[in-house]
Amino acid sequence: PLVLTQFLDRAVTYYGDKTAVITGTGSITYRELNGRVQRLSHGLQSEGIQKGDKVAYLAPNSLEMLEGFYGLFQAGAVMVPLNTRLKPEDNLFILDHSEAKLLFADEELYSLIKPIKDKLKTVRKIIVHAKSKECPETGYDEWIMKFPETAYQRAGVDEEDLASLLYTSGTTGDPKGVMLTHRNNYLHAMSSMHALRVSDRDVYLHVLPMFHVNGWGSPFYYTANGATHVCLKKTDPKTIFDACAVYGVTVMHMAPTVLNSLLQYNDENKPEIPKNVRVMIAGSAPPPSFVERVETELGWEFIQVYGMTESSPYSTYSVIRPQLDDLSSKEQYRLKAKAGFGMIGSEVRIVNEFGDEVPHDGISIGEVTVRSHGVMKGYWKNEQATKEAIQNGWLYTGDMATVDEHGYIDILDRKKDIIISGGENISSIEVEGVLYEHKDIVEAAVIAVPHEKWGETPHAFVVKRPSSEISEQEIIDFSRSRLAHFKAVTGVTFVKELPKTASGKIQKVHLRNEYWDKAG
Ligand code: ATP
Ligand code: MG
Repeated sequence: PLVLTQFLDRAVTYYGDKTAVITGTGSITYRELNGRVQRLSHGLQSEGIQKGDKVAYLAPNSLEMLEGFYGLFQAGAVMVPLNTRLKPEDNLFILDHSEAKLLFADEELYSLIKPIKDKLKTVRKIIVHAKSKECPETGYDEWIMKFPETAYQRAGVDEEDLASLLYTSGTTGDPKGVMLTHRNNYLHAMSSMHALRVSDRDVYLHVLPMFHVNGWGSPFYYTANGATHVCLKKTDPKTIFDACAVYGVTVMHMAPTVLNSLLQYNDENKPEIPKNVRVMIAGSAPPPSFVERVETELGWEFIQVYGMTESSPYSTYSVIRPQLDDLSSKEQYRLKAKAGFGMIGSEVRIVNEFGDEVPHDGISIGEVTVRSHGVMKGYWKNEQATKEAIQNGWLYTGDMATVDEHGYIDILDRKKDIIISGGENISSIEVEGVLYEHKDIVEAAVIAVPHEKWGETPHAFVVKRPSSEISEQEIIDFSRSRLAHFKAVTGVTFVKELPKTASGKIQKVHLRNEYWDKAG
């Protein structure tokens, strides 16, 4: 069966003495990693964990969490990663809702556990990465060391069994628990490793948090290939540039907001750019200008991917196919700023409200639907939402897009974020892309606000460079100079920072609330 334990087994067989994980304090080989994983599986068994039981993790990217993947799978348990930026009550909801039996937590996040500890309904033990006076729970290392390093009698996991219960980012509302099976994750890893040309020579720096589906799904294929993982607690621009140089990093995945911080850092500090980085992978619609800047200023290949928790996550990727080699570099950047075309194993169709595929003309707008091996089993304990999301085997993503004559899809917006002005659809993402081209604008997010004449109109929230004195009118004029007038912003709110999810996505729900609070 296609079960995830095979990935570590393969790495141990063929890459046993190769470095598996580098952390800020040391490194271990695949054989050593497997020894610790097996201790963990024995430990889980001693706690009575059985096939199908849920085990939660509240941790930054760490060796312990990577061990958790395979330790849990060998024991047949299902991982429930918790978002480290959620409030204690949100964690309480997820822990109860998922019926987690054990909780592994980083000691630095213990303040998120302490207030809810006595209210937990199903968690019977908390194990912290490092025990201390402030954090008087079972300590991870002392605990696993009590158990043998020897092979673990595996639970008979089948491909349709759950591997994870991942709660969505909560960008648009309350997070939902997405059930992903071993088969979902396994085949997603196979198609992604192909699309991203992953090899045993890769050194993968974890930038995306492992508790988010992108950071959760990618470690599998680096492990399966015997590549090296670099897991650091911090992911600020300086740490990233330094780690790339020191550890010979070849590949990273990150949110556009983090990528933006790298570009800004490069502008201001001119660090030596590590040449060993072969590729930079990002999702969530980076503005086209980013693609060009990454490839020209940093010299790293840029690949955009598109996906969602519900599809394991990736369904499409954007690289230049050989037939398009003759396009000018400008046109190639424009294509790479799109979400791209279907990965092997993913069928992608953009459909109108009647369910018919829209023409491949780069203009007609429809909803992205996906049928693939990565599409979830459903939402945990939410049949209604599952029925709405998956119809006749197709996942309705809630994302609106066009598709061009080459088959590249361009995500315009979430259905909920699209701005309808005078009957025209405006992509908030397109308007943001233009604002990012202004040198005084560090970050921008555009939402729809009501307009007497047009119904809705674009309004921007802007973080400006600290020294800049740019005015609202200048930003309005700038957007009018670069966009059709109906798409230009008609108002600006300056803010110190934008509200973001832990994976770096801007939460427009909060901006809408802020706008309405101000508008009274
Ligand atoms: P929630 O469903 O709880 O509101 P979320 O949708 O942000 O949260 P995720 O599953 O983490 O949770 O994110 C998936 C979404 O991210 C997609 O539906 C899409 O809107 C956006 N996205 C991902 N990749 C891209 C991309 N390449 N271009 C544009 N948008 C993207
Ligand atoms: Mg979503």
